[in-house]
Amino acid sequence: MKKVLAFLSLCLFISLVSFTTPNNKKLVVIDAGHGGHDQGTTYTKWNEKDIVAQISKKIFEKNDPSTVKIVLLRDTDNFISLTDRVNKINELNPDLVISLHINANAKTDTSGIEAYVSENNSHHEASKEQARKLIEAIANDKLQSRGVKQANFTILKKSNCPAISLELGFISNENDRKYITSEEGQNEIATNIIKSIQ
Ligand SMILES: [Zn+2]
Repeated sequence: MKKVLAFLSLCLFISLVSFTTPNNKKLVVIDAGHGGHDQGTTYTKWNEKDIVAQISKKIFEKNDPSTVKIVLLRDTDNFISLTDRVNKINELNPDLVISLHINANAKTDTSGIEAYVSENNSHHEASKEQARKLIEAIANDKLQSRGVKQANFTILKKSNCPAISLELGFISNENDRKYITSEEGQNEIATNIIKSIQ
């Protein structure tokens, strides 16, 4: 009888561990903007869709999956419509979604990183709070902070979870471009994003 009880409690322990661990882990979706025929913004040989895909890949590779699980919405160079992105996000039901984009401006001296959140998102306050953390973690002397702003982008208002769109610098600005297209800059951005979502 004792052996049976010991066996049963072991089974209970194993099932508790296997059921609680994955549920307690934070799930973060990284949505690399654009893809396929949609290159996003471009500057000479550089384009937005590749830069954000490279940074997304680095976030996935550098992340320790024992604490935060990361899902890349786009891990190849394919086009995904905004509706499909939103459907996929809400199907995954994550704790947070971060869309990655690159800015551009006719004025080449315009530079820096900014985050967007939507007042129409059901988790607006949490989105704002996380957006502040992300900006604080990523901004440095090579990528100045432009702060957190409001926008009604589809991903932001239709995701049923905290949602942020990050504009990781201006492709049209020489200093920003150097930073966001370099291995070192991309590694730094990826590491800082991971730090701020723990
Ligand atoms: Zn974009």
